[in-house]
Amino acid sequence: MRHKRGLVIVMSGFSGAGKGTIVKHLFETYPDNYFLSISATTRNPRPGEQDGREYFFKTKEEFESMIEQKELLEYANFNDNYYGTPKAYVEKLVNEGKDVILEIEVQGALQVREIFPEALLLFVTPPSADALEKRLVGRGTETADVVAQRLAISARESHLMNKYDYLIVNDTVEDSVKEVHGIIQSEHFRTVRNEEAIKKIQEELKVFAKGDN
Ligand code: 5GP
Repeated sequence: MRHKRGLVIVMSGFSGAGKGTIVKHLFETYPDNYFLSISATTRNPRPGEQDGREYFFKTKEEFESMIEQKELLEYANFNDNYYGTPKAYVEKLVNEGKDVILEIEVQGALQVREIFPEALLLFVTPPSADALEKRLVGRGTETADVVAQRLAISARESHLMNKYDYLIVNDTVEDSVKEVHGIIQSEHFRTVRNEEAIKKIQEELKVFAKGDN
């Protein structure tokens, strides 16, 4: 029997680690399994990004009003911009038993852990710091200054990696997608996520008990 609530799955990783690509391929490979939480942000859209698809793009005032109205599950300031997870959608999906993926940075991830202690936290890293720098530069969407800032942030974030449940070393996207899917699917079988099924069989077995409980 499947646990009734869906899983809150947090995916974090250094900027340029490839977590966006992993998430994209995960949805393409297993389209019926997962739902994506779309964040709000005050950063400017990158070329090709659409409001309501990659992010809900907000002004600082709009974002601060969302904070005041308690519409966000978590939020963080990253590289001088706000990023946050709208609460209502995530709660709805989880209550419907759906697995929802939050692709967020570490400060937000740790807030999610406080709110949903049962959340599954995955951290994505490239095989080396060198590979990380190459990917960030190769992406060509950020200036050299921004690349340097993001690498400095990664150095800081690396000290929080051990707060996560699982580490994905992103060598090839194909392998990483399989690993992430495998981890999530296995999580559903944990005894703590199946307390109802355990109680049910315990109740059913009571008729066979020989006075020892
Ligand atoms: P980017 O500007 O590259 O899209 O995202 C920058 C960082 O913000 C990434 O690490 C991304 O995962 C994170 N991020 C995106 N949405 C959220 C969110 O809703 N909350 C938090 N805390 N971080 C987010």
